Amino acid sequence: MSALIDELRDIVGSRNVAAGDAVADDDTHDECLTVDPVRPIAVVRPESTGEVAAVLAACDRARVPVTARGAGSGMSGAAVGLPDGIVVAFDRMARILHVDEANQVAVVQPGVTLTQLDEALAPAGLVYPVEPGEPGATIGGTVATNAGGMRAVRHGVTRNHVLGLELALASGEVVRTGGRMVKLSTGPDLTQLVIGSEGTLALVTEVTLRVRRRLPARATLLAPFADLDTLSAAIPGLVASGVDPLMLEYLDVLAMAGVTQASGIDLGVPAEVRDRAAAYLLVALESRSDDLLDADVELAGTILQDQGALDVYVLEPSVATELVTARERAFFAAKAAGAHDIVDAVVPRAAIPELLAAAGRLAATTGSLVTGCGHAGDGNVHLSVFQPDPGTRHDLLDELFRTAVSLGGAVSGEHGLGRAKRAAYAALADPVLLALHEQVKRAFDPNGILNPGVGPAGLAPAAEAGRAAEG
Ligand SMILES: Cc1cc2nc3c(=O)[nH]c(=O)nc-3n(C[C@H](O)[C@H](O)[C@H](O)COP(=O)(O)OP(=O)(O)OC[C@H]3O[C@@H](n4cnc5c(N)ncnc54)[C@H](O)[C@@H]3O)c2cc1C
Repeated sequence: MSALIDELRDIVGSRNVAAGDAVADDDTHDECLTVDPVRPIAVVRPESTGEVAAVLAACDRARVPVTARGAGSGMSGAAVGLPDGIVVAFDRMARILHVDEANQVAVVQPGVTLTQLDEALAPAGLVYPVEPGEPGATIGGTVATNAGGMRAVRHGVTRNHVLGLELALASGEVVRTGGRMVKLSTGPDLTQLVIGSEGTLALVTEVTLRVRRRLPARATLLAPFADLDTLSAAIPGLVASGVDPLMLEYLDVLAMAGVTQASGIDLGVPAEVRDRAAAYLLVALESRSDDLLDADVELAGTILQDQGALDVYVLEPSVATELVTARERAFFAAKAAGAHDIVDAVVPRAAIPELLAAAGRLAATTGSLVTGCGHAGDGNVHLSVFQPDPGTRHDLLDELFRTAVSLGGAVSGEHGLGRAKRAAYAALADPVLLALHEQVKRAFDPNGILNPGVGPAGLAPAAEAGRAAEG
């Protein structure tokens, strides 16, 4: 192993390899509540695509596992390395290579954070509309998890904005997929195959992103509801109305209390309404002019009232900004309150009432507390589960995921399977699909060095896996 460390030092320079006790605690974990920190053999910080490729070739020859790391804000343990593996951290590859205003495209290195990209695009009046709740997340990490976030209801998720990738393969070869064009019909789309693969197929060394014009007019509505069913039933109509919400988030009263107490915001909701509210809808609207925005605010307000909101408030811009930021930090409020797990199951948006009803029933029958907030417009709820007993928690989650899948949904909408949720996925997945994942993995990474133990590969039942290997 020391020969490999020496080789890695030759590739990236001694100061960019931390081995043994020199590995920083920060590099041993992500934000997943259920995957323990792991100290890898070494953390390597390359500065170029060539260095990433050489690191991979060396690790492939030595058959040493490699885990990529962006900002470590992931929620599924996917950026946590292995005790006998190497972590490749991308913080030295954080350059914005090009902002192409004519084609509305940005070309960036993977270690660029969402905040850095936003700062670079703002002067040109452009925006990258994907906004997962953690602005310190990197573009490489968001590509690898297919991150979603609050604006997905209008703009879609990461995969809707990636036009091309530069990839370092496990073999040490480098390939490019896609490009600055918005159309491509040259066979199966390998860009899309790698998006969401959690560092298990290839390491991303450059990303070509589609960006958009920044719209100047924004308003935020807050609608309290007396019960979750009425709130959930209001969502499809609002989405279908044509106002095209930028954000459509729900918070139950416990999540709202956690968020407002942690941030000290006064929303101006009178006590008599607050006392009757079981949950809130937060609706952000955006438009290219104040007049168009006013018309949308009017229509959205009417729809919410008609659908049974207790009232509708148009928030002061500063309060709206504070609330959105506090909602983004809701995870930390739940973590501070002692949550044992965070679930990001997804269902078709019209099935949210059934999923939330099942969560309520399961909480009651298992003596657990399940509170929630989430991307209601996407059918993607984030439930904080408070249940200290691992066995009871497992049974609760198992039933919840089963319900989500039976409603036409999935185990994860945006956080990924990582190390934390892959067993839950495998328990419900079609074995033929798992075997196909296996074959894809082998095609990209024949020696299995890229993030083993993460994602759907390695889970196919033995017979299917054997057939995949032969095939
Ligand atoms: C407060 C908070 C709110 C959040 N809200 C949201 C949300 O609303 N929506 C959402 O989708 N997520 C959310 N997240 C989760 C997280 O921010 C996203 O998963 C994000 O995409 C992770 O980016 P990262 O740079 O931190 O990646 P990391 O956590 O470092 O890594 C994530 C995965 O990407 C892989 N990876 C990283 N870089 C590369 C690369 N260059 N090549 C190949 N693979 C790579 C890693 O191996 C790992 O599998 C939230 C997290 C926090 C802490």
